[in-house]
Amino acid sequence: AASMPTDEALSERRHSRRIMVGPVPVGGGAPISVQSMTNTKTSDVNATLQQIAELAAAGCDIVRVAVPSQDDSDALAAIVRHSPIPVIADVHFQSKYVFQAIDAGCAAVRVNPGNIRKFDEVGSSICEAATQAGISLRIGVNAGSLDKDIYAKYGGPTPQALVASAVKEARMFEEVGFHDFKISVKHHDPVTMIRTYRLLARQGDWPLHLGVTEAGPQWQGTIKSCLAFGVLLAEGIGDTIRVSLSAPPVEEVKVGCKVLEYLGLRERHFDIISCPSCGRAQVDVIELANAVTDGLKDIKAPIRVAVMGCIVNGPGEAREADLGVASGNGKGQIFIKGEVVETVPEDRIVATLLERAHAIADHMQQA
Ligand code: SF4
Repeated sequence: AASMPTDEALSERRHSRRIMVGPVPVGGGAPISVQSMTNTKTSDVNATLQQIAELAAAGCDIVRVAVPSQDDSDALAAIVRHSPIPVIADVHFQSKYVFQAIDAGCAAVRVNPGNIRKFDEVGSSICEAATQAGISLRIGVNAGSLDKDIYAKYGGPTPQALVASAVKEARMFEEVGFHDFKISVKHHDPVTMIRTYRLLARQGDWPLHLGVTEAGPQWQGTIKSCLAFGVLLAEGIGDTIRVSLSAPPVEEVKVGCKVLEYLGLRERHFDIISCPSCGRAQVDVIELANAVTDGLKDIKAPIRVAVMGCIVNGPGEAREADLGVASGNGKGQIFIKGEVVETVPEDRIVATLLERAHAIADHMQQA
């Protein structure tokens, strides 16, 4: 059961309607997908495709690329053709790029109606083109581009203002009979972001794309995203997630995947259990845990490996681990499911754990 997604500990998922982003379903009870965005120049097709391949290998389900210029727009068709995962075009200001992205075969387009020039006039033809192509859209509202009237009415980018803006734009789509869209209402502050999504979740059955925008560098951004996603996903809110970090995009994907794994919403891969170490530790637990994590990070099987600093509590406390080590007297007791199977000298601990972990992982994958 450890490898099966489970939401036992969480609230039932909010009912949302389902849309498709290429072959990936979003909403309507579909597995929560992880997204990221490339930071290469989109016009550089090779660099962009290389980054997309890296993101896909890390577990990314959907990728977004920015389309700020005609050269970027011109590159979309080639990127779409060779990308292993569906490509969303991210368009600001110029509606012509929306139409070009649809023609290029993008799986979806992210628009921010608040900053698309003359959206009132072009909105319905965007919906028409998307319908004809059978693709979906995302309404991406953020604090920086709120409708002026709404901003004035609410006195700033409050949760109520962000939601009012999103709902207004959603209605605009729905009035012309277009329903294949998801919504995001991102904010950089996790508490505001949580309050905004909670409010939005009550006002319609749109699939929701979660994100804390401009969350900061890796350490801060990871914490903000985990907090906000953790709260919302535990309440059943959210159909697809994007972690935003001032860091290489693959780091966003790793965090996003782990959030889902640790919440039991995605099949678990390798995980490490390691003690914080204390005055009883007889080995450098930090170094050991990092070496083991590094050696096993690409393992896809749901193996749990424990690294414990001493034998007092070691094997007992880590009984749930598939494999582990407890150190003492310059040696490591290697245990499997809490039973000691061999004792090795300290300089053999990492190699022994890695060897055994790979063997167990192979066995799990064959089973
Ligand atoms: Fe301390 Fe041993 Fe517990 Fe690690 S396993 S925290 S070294 S008592």
